[in-house]
Amino acid sequence: MSREIRVRIAPSPTGDPHVGTAYTALFNYVFAKKHGGKFILRIEDTDQTRARASSEEQIFSSLKWLGLNWDEGPDCGGPYGPYRQSERLDIYREYTQKLVDSGHAYPCFCTAERLDRVRAEQKAQNLTTRYDGHCRNLSPDEVAKQKAAGTPHVIRLRVPTDGVTRFMDLLRDELQFDNERIDDQVLMKTDGFPTYHLANVVDDHLMKITHVIRAEEWISSTPKHALLYRAFGWEEPVFCHLPLLRNSDRSKISKRKNPVSLTYYRRAGMLPEAIVNFLALMGWSYGEDREIFTLNEMIEVFDLKKISIGGPVFDMVKLTWLNQHYMHKMDEDAFIHYIREEIFTKDFLRRLKPLALERMSRFEQFVDNNAFFFNGALDYKHIEVLPASKDKDAVRTMLYQLLEQLDELYDWQNKPLHDVLNAHREKIGWKPKDYFMTIRLIVTGRKDSPPLTESMELIGREMVRFRIRNFVDTVLA
Ligand code: GLU
Repeated sequence: MSREIRVRIAPSPTGDPHVGTAYTALFNYVFAKKHGGKFILRIEDTDQTRARASSEEQIFSSLKWLGLNWDEGPDCGGPYGPYRQSERLDIYREYTQKLVDSGHAYPCFCTAERLDRVRAEQKAQNLTTRYDGHCRNLSPDEVAKQKAAGTPHVIRLRVPTDGVTRFMDLLRDELQFDNERIDDQVLMKTDGFPTYHLANVVDDHLMKITHVIRAEEWISSTPKHALLYRAFGWEEPVFCHLPLLRNSDRSKISKRKNPVSLTYYRRAGMLPEAIVNFLALMGWSYGEDREIFTLNEMIEVFDLKKISIGGPVFDMVKLTWLNQHYMHKMDEDAFIHYIREEIFTKDFLRRLKPLALERMSRFEQFVDNNAFFFNGALDYKHIEVLPASKDKDAVRTMLYQLLEQLDELYDWQNKPLHDVLNAHREKIGWKPKDYFMTIRLIVTGRKDSPPLTESMELIGREMVRFRIRNFVDTVLA
């Protein structure tokens, strides 16, 4: 009997749920379903400074919304759990020790200052910056002495100093990297947490992953992973690096050019079927010139080898066209269900009530007064947004700074929003009226909107950031 196909996505819960995660998830999901295999969700949260529980929840809900359900994962368990890396620290310690014992890894006691100095010297000489091997050959006595003295240390992979590391990529055939250019990768950090490389390989092995289907940006990590598999003496999975999604100018998709958060697309009224169909067309085609198909139809004809690697363009016009198609196909029930469950939800109306009633004496005013809570991009043609005392450049600079702050604000509520705005305004010394009115007009499109930060809370993180960015890109362009 042939081996069961097992694939996974392994997102790090550090930010907004990314379209790239959905893209990778889709191809893994379809591949698993095609072969009657399993699709696994593993949360890679070993970077404790960046991991956030709310990000993990958003990954779950966005993927479920898209219908990309997993067979094993942190929420539903499975035979190879736990599926959250922060709950597997003992496992990583055990396997790191195995590598140290077999001589494939070694403790390194170098201080951050020393590493900085080495890096600076290598840079000055135009050399590839990499660990210089200072601790590679410490004697057992020396190691014992340092440990007894309590000197903090990491564990590094002992990468061969010459030769090449080769591995197969399903879409690219053989790839090879000069060992000379591969760093003695840190596997275990001083805090006892593994790095991505170690945890990823150990888990893929223990979770019996047969195919690692992930984004192209991980190709340069793969030689390190191949070395790890070989050091452990484990069978390697099949590697398949999906093409990078690109903006229309061919640059890697980023939030500077297009929204990349799935939460944005949901808020913007894109249907999950449209997004799935759209992502399926990125580097893959159904054939027969067919652009519209369901997930099940994709599964029927899917062949992983037929993905083409020339960076597909994330084309909003195409996505919107597909969305329109799926909208028009909705029957009455689906239409009513969508309006009630996605737009005028009970929860949203409950939160809107105090803000809406304050400015209403008749319900006929409801739609007009509150349109900006539901709209997407706003129209600024008929309002003067820029304050008289500031030119475009000053406003642009102010908005970029604000966006940076808001990008980092995940606790999207009135009070933290209030604090961020106040601190920013004080720092740049704008008059309250100029500052708050400018933001109010950009975010709500009207002078008489309810209190600003309360409105921002309700409009939502995605749409507020989108409107500010859109204003910079269109009105201030
Ligand atoms: N944690 C990595 C990520 O955030 C996983 C990459 C992989 O699939 O190996 O995408």
